Amino acid sequence: MKEVYLKVLPMVFVILVIPFLVYLSSTKKEIPVFDENNVQKKVNEILNSNQDKELVTNESYDKFIYLAFHKEKEDTHYVIDAKTGEETTLLNYIKEEKREDFFHKVSELLHLKYPKFIADFLSGEEKISDVELKENELILYYNKDGLNPMVEEELFLHVNYNEVKEDLDFTLSLDSEYENENGYHYDKTKKTVALTFDDGPNGEKTNRILKALEENKAHATFFMVGNRMEYGKDTILNVLNKGCEIGSHSYNHKNMKRMKLKDIISGEEKTHEIYKSITGKDLLYTRPPYGSINNQIKESLNTIFVNWNIDTEDWLHRDKDKIIEAVLKDIDDGDIILMHDSYETTVEAVEELLPILYAKGYQVVSVTELANLKGITLENHSMYYFLKEV
Ligand SMILES: [Zn+2]
Repeated sequence: MKEVYLKVLPMVFVILVIPFLVYLSSTKKEIPVFDENNVQKKVNEILNSNQDKELVTNESYDKFIYLAFHKEKEDTHYVIDAKTGEETTLLNYIKEEKREDFFHKVSELLHLKYPKFIADFLSGEEKISDVELKENELILYYNKDGLNPMVEEELFLHVNYNEVKEDLDFTLSLDSEYENENGYHYDKTKKTVALTFDDGPNGEKTNRILKALEENKAHATFFMVGNRMEYGKDTILNVLNKGCEIGSHSYNHKNMKRMKLKDIISGEEKTHEIYKSITGKDLLYTRPPYGSINNQIKESLNTIFVNWNIDTEDWLHRDKDKIIEAVLKDIDDGDIILMHDSYETTVEAVEELLPILYAKGYQVVSVTELANLKGITLENHSMYYFLKEV
């Protein structure tokens, strides 16, 4: 009897006690280390140290407590983990398996808002310096150290909560009407210049300039020569597709002052007809070849004339650095810049110059956009060299 007892006891131990011990140890792991004292202590500590500020938010979410304060122009906020009572960041509440998805969406929004050189630089978690929680959105703030060229403005992105809620480990109740930052906008309060290119269309070179413009949230006006248009239909349509615009640069690039008036008029008519047959649209402006014009021609043509006040002399120097220097040395709000989309060096200059202008706080637009931003109504028979608010 005793032997049997001795045999059964270890079996009871194996069958009942060990599973029970395993069960105990596993449930113990799942019990959260929930330290209410620590959490409350931390909240009080933060409330105390911010007494001179207005408490704007004191919200408990499933996994954290969010406190926000306001004082004059300064906003501060704190994220406190609801388990540990430690200060943390909202980036720690993105679902692990959704992190890639989340940062992919953020990168797409960055590319809608900023030029490519900035959006490429900021895409990635490590450039985010802070995340703020607002009613319907997260605001990501960025560290721009190392960005070349360095931009003057603060870099941040509003992300609609609805768009990323699947990726987040917390829930907000919010306004369904709210929309994302939906891309780039030209801003009336910013310094603005119009960029213009003469003598096209020039196929590959024009298209590369369009690509550089697109990557830098910029537009331009292209003054094209009538007798070249038939050979550059695709380029012309590409210019319009990219949000840029086209004006006349005469039919055959002759100096109008040395032409008979009737030949000037018929040349302009021919150019307009060709352009209309390709695009279905009207040409907006005329830039006389060499900028050369007199009052009689101005009175005779029913169009708006646009020249320039910054001449890069790109056709003369064919030197990328000189073109960039010519723009940067005199540039000012409201200027109209002259280049030619005929030269490799001009294409390279544009690619390098646009990020620099952005960094210096300039937006680069077409003539029409510049006039609109400056509130100037352009009139037929008038010549414009720049467009500045009066
Ligand atoms: Zn020209």
